[in-house]
Amino acid sequence: MSNRRRLGVMGGTFDPVHHGHLVAASEVQARFDLDEVIFVPTGEPWQKTSRVVSASEDRYLMTVIATASNPRFSVSRVDIDRDGPTYTVDTLTDLKAAHPDADLFFITGADALEQIVSWRRAADVFHLAHFIGVTRPGYELNGQHLPEGSVSLVEVPAMAISSTACRARTASGMPVWYLVPDGVVQYISKRGLYSVPD
Ligand code: ATP
Ligand code: MG
Repeated sequence: MSNRRRLGVMGGTFDPVHHGHLVAASEVQARFDLDEVIFVPTGEPWQKTSRVVSASEDRYLMTVIATASNPRFSVSRVDIDRDGPTYTVDTLTDLKAAHPDADLFFITGADALEQIVSWRRAADVFHLAHFIGVTRPGYELNGQHLPEGSVSLVEVPAMAISSTACRARTASGMPVWYLVPDGVVQYISKRGLYSVPD
């Protein structure tokens, strides 16, 4: 058995972080025997130009609140402290430099995995980490077009929750209790986030 640390990397906009993210990370942590899962909120997301994304500091703090009670979860600032849009290749390169003794496992939902595979420089990222694609309600998870051996597909308990739905519910006065952690409900309210539709 190798004694290298096994680090999960869960990238996302986390606007806001919700229980779908947390269940997916927890399931992969257990199934892959990961020492830690690092949540990495994105900087200015380049794929989401159609709406204004919340300040990275708010998204970072909500992610800290949501993960604080789990001893195997932590949050990294690598993407929010880097200027410009976030590319997964940069995220993984920075984390590899910070944890040279670790093997990285990049955790991603079926929707995001599909996009990654379509990138121009997709092949590069598969050298930096093993990829773990998790199921997500409404998205088909299949192994088509994936480089052989570099991606595992995992079924996680279905949680039909999205950040988009959480924002829409908040804007229309509907509760997000039990969709996001209690502290995140309170943080959204304290900062008045998502008071207007996307
Ligand atoms: P938005 O609706 O704003 O796109 P989101 O809910 O998709 O937000 P992201 O921050 O975009 O959340 O997602 C981060 C990662 O978590 C992505 O890899 C995404 O596929 C995955 N993910 C999001 N929601 C779920 C869920 N309910 N179950 C499993 N994986 C999820
Ligand atoms: Mg998304």
